[in-house]
Amino acid sequence: MKWAQDRLEGLEDEFLECRWIKHRWVKLGIYAVPGTRGFIAKFGCSVCDCERYDEFGSDFEIVRRRYKHPSGYLVTYSEHDREKGRRLRRADVTEQIVRRLGAKLPVWRGD
Ligand SMILES: [Zn+2]
Repeated sequence: MKWAQDRLEGLEDEFLECRWIKHRWVKLGIYAVPGTRGFIAKFGCSVCDCERYDEFGSDFEIVRRRYKHPSGYLVTYSEHDREKGRRLRRADVTEQIVRRLGAKLPVWRGD
């Protein structure tokens, strides 16, 4: 889809990779939350530097999950995009990755 490819063209390779196969999280620390019996686990993506914060209650259940995305990671949609129901699909990301590889795509010869 042309619209989707136009949107993805400027995205950094690392961001495209994480959109395609998800973030690779590394645990950065677990912290007590002052004044509560809850705690926060902080994770960082080893590919794109996205950060994830999982907040747990005293019952060890996740209460909230937040992300801090690096600048340029998120794709914004205009009002026009929303009206037309435009959303980036995983297939769009796959197409962009293959386009970037182009002629460099090696030929599969089996395992
Ligand atoms: Zn990532």
